[in-house]
Amino acid sequence: MNDSPRPPVVVRTRPELEAARAALTGTVAVVMTMGALHDGHASLVRQARQEADHVVMTIFLNPLQFGRNEDLAKYPRTFDADLGLCTAEGVDVVFAPGPDVVYPDGDPGVRVSAGRLGDLLEGKSRPGHFDGVLTVVAKLLHLIRPDRAYFGQKDAQQLLLIRRMVRDLDFGCEVVAVPTVRESDGLAMSSRNTYLTPLDREVALVLPTALGAGESHAPEGASAVRRAARDVLVREPLCLVDYLVLVHPMTLEDVPEWYRGEALLAVAARVGTTRLIDNVLVNIGADGEQARSV
Ligand code: AMP
Repeated sequence: MNDSPRPPVVVRTRPELEAARAALTGTVAVVMTMGALHDGHASLVRQARQEADHVVMTIFLNPLQFGRNEDLAKYPRTFDADLGLCTAEGVDVVFAPGPDVVYPDGDPGVRVSAGRLGDLLEGKSRPGHFDGVLTVVAKLLHLIRPDRAYFGQKDAQQLLLIRRMVRDLDFGCEVVAVPTVRESDGLAMSSRNTYLTPLDREVALVLPTALGAGESHAPEGASAVRRAARDVLVREPLCLVDYLVLVHPMTLEDVPEWYRGEALLAVAARVGTTRLIDNVLVNIGADGEQARSV
């Protein structure tokens, strides 16, 4: 008897994907990644497996979503270890195409536009990033035709934009959000954490600490949340903050002082040479009891 988990079917071309997809009966979930998998990705797979009959993972380093001065060339590539994680977590099919398979005619002349929401927050520092993300997500949804697609709350703006695209353009699949998985000390897991030096790694802890401080002031209102988070960040000069915002989760507009309800406290910062993002959803105005009961 052999109890070892079965490795996924690995496909790299469109005909191979078509054949593997046709062999899946029942509901299909997709988890889209850029590889360098960690426990955050595993958590998406675990939730997907609970809610669908089959899980397809895509591993594709999408050149369209990287700016010219960004880290495409040095992004960690760990395909063998990624396959190990997929095997352990019970992924059925891994689609790992090259850019020539996804973009056979080179850079696509027609792209999905993220619109105004794509110009805020991450979009300000990374022009065109979300058009690149949405274009590849649209293509992968067309190629895989899943019932459900799983994305991490860690990339809150990306999740919002994918939800909007799927709704606005009638993709007809369900988008499911998965909570952020953190290291035991609170740092959000990210493939980019491997760039951090030991000192950077310590400095980076200021991000979850600031978010936690903000969250703990939620009963007092928006300014108290912003102030508490900012006060933590300013005490760490090695953390160069790009933005710290408290915004409405749907519009990404700053919430006013009278606002009550769910808001997104989001931060982006450079630590050493690495740009990190993190966020938490906070319930503004709710006291501890209410916050726990929602
Ligand atoms: P990436 O490979 O970084 O493009 O991420 C692929 C998917 O995994 C996206 O939906 C991310 O939001 C999600 N993800 C990345 N890090 C985490 C994390 N720490 N917790 C939960 N989901 C994550």
